[in-house]
Order: sequence, then structure tokens, then C-alpha cells
Amino acid sequence: MTLRGRLTTAFLVVVFGPVLLGAIFVALTVATVSQDRAAERLDHAATTVRTGIGAICRQLQASADAVAVVPAAERAAVARQLVARGLATEVEVTPVGAQLASSAGETARGDCAEPANQQFSAISATATAGADKITAVQSVDADFLTRLAATSGAGVRLGLRDLPEGRTLSPEPGQPLPLTLSVPRSNPGFLYAVLLAVVLTAGLAAVLVARWLAASTTRPLGDLAHAADQVAAGDLDTRVPIGRPDELGRLAATFNRMTRELQAYVQALTASRDQLRGHLAILGETLSSTHDVDRILRVILRTALVATGARAGLVLLLDPAGEKLMPRCAIGLTGDWDAPELPALPVGSGILGGVAAAGEARRGHGETGSVEPPCRTYVAVPIRAPLIDDPFAPADSTPATIGVLALYDRVGGDEFEDTDLQTLRTFAGQAGVAVNNVRVHEEAQRLSLTDPLTGLWNYRYLRESLRREVERASRFGRMLAVLVLDLDHFKGVNDTYGHAAGDAVLGEFARRIRVGLREVDVAFRQGGEEFVVLLPETDAYGGAIVADRLGTAVRGTPFSIEARGEITVTVSIGVAVFPEHGADAQQVLRAADDALYAAKNAGRDTYRLFDSPTTAIGGPQPPRQARGR
Ligand code: GH3
Ligand code: MG
Ligand code: MG
Repeated sequence: MTLRGRLTTAFLVVVFGPVLLGAIFVALTVATVSQDRAAERLDHAATTVRTGIGAICRQLQASADAVAVVPAAERAAVARQLVARGLATEVEVTPVGAQLASSAGETARGDCAEPANQQFSAISATATAGADKITAVQSVDADFLTRLAATSGAGVRLGLRDLPEGRTLSPEPGQPLPLTLSVPRSNPGFLYAVLLAVVLTAGLAAVLVARWLAASTTRPLGDLAHAADQVAAGDLDTRVPIGRPDELGRLAATFNRMTRELQAYVQALTASRDQLRGHLAILGETLSSTHDVDRILRVILRTALVATGARAGLVLLLDPAGEKLMPRCAIGLTGDWDAPELPALPVGSGILGGVAAAGEARRGHGETGSVEPPCRTYVAVPIRAPLIDDPFAPADSTPATIGVLALYDRVGGDEFEDTDLQTLRTFAGQAGVAVNNVRVHEEAQRLSLTDPLTGLWNYRYLRESLRREVERASRFGRMLAVLVLDLDHFKGVNDTYGHAAGDAVLGEFARRIRVGLREVDVAFRQGGEEFVVLLPETDAYGGAIVADRLGTAVRGTPFSIEARGEITVTVSIGVAVFPEHGADAQQVLRAADDALYAAKNAGRDTYRLFDSPTTAIGGPQPPRQARGR
């Protein structure tokens, strides 16, 4: 049974039940009262009829007695007088024992003194005086009965009859007539009809009111249930109409408010999820596409801020000595920390220094110290290099701390939670992997471009650098001097002192080249004992000076060879200049090679500047292989 049905039934029982009971009670009362009233009227009529007939009997007796007391001769006259006065219908004087002559149609008379249960047409009273019997008669005709009915207020009939609303009067002394009294049946039908109409109207009204009441109560509940269903199905735009400002209205308003807040909450969550998703996509893309540590750290920091809802953040990396924390990336910091140049922090002191030293995360609120970013709450975790599967590392070794990731001022002013710490650890792990990757990559890069014996750039890097420098010089209209160096009779060094000694000479030679150059100059080992030096923004004159200086640096100080004493080494150098001696990288390098050849030809331990007429065009120029390289 529905709520509406139950409410309707309850209302009908509570309201219509008493109405129905009341109506039944009234109907029963009316019936009883009308019966009682009929009985009362019959009682009254019976008393009146008895009294009336009794009075007539006494009057007839008095008339008979009055005739009896007068002398016999006057009796007839007195009788006539009495009849004339209306005291009796008839007064007869007959001798005692004589048969009373019956008058026309009259069959019987009820004697007042001796009542008998039979039909009478008259009542009589008798008296005797000597030999005469005097009978006073009152005829009982329709007129008589009508008068009786009029005085008693009830219908009066001769004879005893069984009537539903009647009362029989049996003959008794003083009332010799068998009579049946009846009162008109009182008819409460109209009353009942009115009562029925009232009950039906009340019932109809009760049904209508109950239906309205149930509907007005259950409709909002139905709406609410429907809306709750829709919300449960995910439609958070659902609202219920707010009706009257009653409890149901309040419930609807509360439901709407709840749904609205739920919607706002879901929207905020969705937005932050989307934001985080976007940041994670950027993070993934950045991690896989760049080796720019600062860019990677910035993206990681930004994602960590979004994920934890922090206001500001800072990433610091340990310097190579492991003594200082160098800020690499800051977002949202205020005060002194909102500056392009951020101060380095000592490892071991302060919160960040403590995290770096202990390798343990810290969080809290309040002062972080005068040298660290000001904040209300903070959380800082160490950034560790990932553990590399190193068979020589001790089994329980922990990864080295390489920096610190710190967040400040969680949104809402709350302290950072365990989940935030967890999240930050994840990002610190990513930062550690990323920084380590970049460092490994840089190292690999360095190894692939440098020569392990001398530490100078290798031939690969020479090609790239030469192309780049030529391009730059041509773009800015500058010159570039290229030196090609080849040790003299190096084969002999190897042959005399051994290959290891030759290697040592090569290493020392490289060191002397480096020392003799400016910072912008770059030296390469082209292969074997042949080297190249690029001198940006240098003309032929400058190139000659450097060549001379390098030749002196090699020749001037003997090379010491372990356990074999010292040897003097010399070098021949060819110099060419871009764009003077070659229009591109290849041409200028070849020109320098040609100049070297010229220096060798000139007796070694010297330098030569490329000279196009003699070397590049006209001069005797054996094939390159002929130089024994
Ligand atoms: P020059 O250049 O004066 O004509 O005579 P050279 O003896 O130096 O002749 P060349 O340039 O042809 O000889 C190169 C020699 O350098 C050959 C090789 O034994 C030696 N050499 C090349 N690379 C290395 C190296 O990595 N280590 C050592 N120890 N020797 C090397
Ligand atoms: Mg040589
Ligand atoms: Mg050589």
C-alpha cells in the first residue's frame, strides 16, 4: 500500500469514522424518541378516553338515579327533560323484568356497571325504583367516536384490533367499550434522509480532503524521491520545486542545497583532476623530451603544487661538494625569496639543510628561520638519486640525497597531511630520477665527445664545432683561425720509449695546449698525434701568434717520461683562416692541413700560414697519405 493510500485511509478513519458513528447514534436516538413519543401519546389518549367514558357513565348513572327518585308518574316527564338537556341519548322507564324493546338497529348496549367484551353500539346505566327499571342510554355512533378522538388526540375505533401503532382498551367498570386507540405513525424518514445526506456529504468531503491532503503531502515526497533517483544516477542538475514553506518545503530546499553543494564539490574535484591530468601529461612529455634540468624541475614542482594544493614551492640541488643547497627553481615564494637570484643554503642547518643532511622528510608550521622562505606551513622531502644496480655497492646502501623538494602554505591554512607527504615523495622520486638521467646523459654525451687519453674534444665534436664556428663567424662577419698540430717524429718516441711513454707525451702535450689557450678557444684531438685548435674571432696574425706560443710551450720544456728521464718533443703547426683561406669548414680545415704539410716540409718544429699560390694551387703537393698519417 502506498503512502498516499495509507494517509487517505488514516484520514478517513480518523475523520469519517466518528461522523458515521455519530450519524448511527443520532438515527437510533431518533427512532427511540419517536417510539417513546407514540407510546406517550397513546398513554395520554387512553387516560383521556377512560376518563371521558367514565364521566359519561357517571352522567348516565346520575340521570337514571334522578329519574328513579321522582314519583312514578313524573318519571316520564323527567326522563324527557334529561334527554332534552342532552344528558343522555335516551332514558327508558320499563317495568322490572320486562324485555327491553330494542330500538331500531341497536343490538347491544354496554352496561357501565357490567362490562363485557363484545361489540356495542351504546352504553347504558340502570337504576331501579320500585317496579320500574330506569335505563339511561348514550349511543355510540360515529359522531361519538369522532368527539372522543378529538379530545384524546388519537384515533378511536370500536373493537379490539391488533395495530402496530395502536393500543387496545379492554372493557372495565366505568368503561364498558372495547376500544382500539391509534396515533398516526410518526415518520422520521425525512430526518433520516437529511441525516444520510449529511453523512454522504461529510463522507464525500472527507474523501476529497483526504485525497488532497495525501496528494499534497506525498507529491513533494514523490518529487523528492524522483530527484534523489536522478542524483543517484549522476544528474546533479536536478532540483525539486519548493512548495509551501512547511517541513516538506524545507526538506526540498535542503535537498536542493545539498545537491548544489555536491555539484560544486564534484565540479571542483573534476577541475582539479583535469588540471592535475594536464600537469601530469606535461610532466610526462617534459621528462621524455628534454634534458633541461631546470625545465624538468619546474614542471615537477608545478605538478606537485597542483596535486597538493600548496601556494609555493622550492627545489634545491646539492652542489658537487655536497656543502650547499643551490635553489634551482621556485614558484610562488614571497619576500626576499621572490627574486631571480636565490641564496644558497648550507647543508646541515635550518629545515631544508636538515632535510638534505639527514635525508629525512620534515613538515610543520610556523617559522622556518630567517634564511628560509617565510610560510605558515611547510613540507620538505629529500630528492634522492635512484639506486643503481651496482654489484660493488654494499647491500644496505641507501641512495644519496641530491637535493630537497619543499612546498609551502597548503590551501586553507591546514598543515600538510600524510597523503601530501606521500605525493611529494613521489614527485621527489621523479625529480631524483630526472636529475640523475640528465646527469647520466650529460656524462654519456661528454664521454662520446671527448678523447679519454687527453681529455680534449674528439674528432666527432671537432666536425660539429667547426661547422658551428664557421657558421657563426660567417653570420657575424668575423674570422676564425684553425690550427692543425702534428707532433714531429712521434713514431720514434713510440719506438724508443714504448707506447705508454707515447701516451704520456700525448697527455702532457694536450695539457700544454689547453693551458696556452683562451677560454673561448677549443682544442680537439683529431686522431693519433694530430690535434686541431679553433680560435674564434682570430685573424691570420692572431693564429700565427698562438701557433708560435704553442710551439714554444712544447719545445721549451722537455717532457718527463717515467723511469726514462726527459725528452724534448717538437710540433709542426699549420694555420688557416676562415673566410680568407676557405669558404666552408671543410675547405678551411684542408687549408690548415696544407699549411701543416708546408711546415713539415720546412723542416718541422715550426708553423706555416696557408698560402694559396704555393700550397693550394701551384706548389708541389704530394697526396695526403704520403705524409705518413
Ligand atoms: P712526422 O709527423 O714528423 O712526419 O713523423 P711521425 O713519426 O710523427 O709520423 P706519423 O705522423 O706518420 O706517425 C704517427 C705515429 O704516431 C704512428 C703511431 O705509432 C703514433 N701514434 C698514433 N696514435 C698514437 C697513440 O694513441 N699513442 C701512441 N703512443 N702513439 C700513437
Ligand atoms: Mg707526426
Ligand atoms: Mg701524424
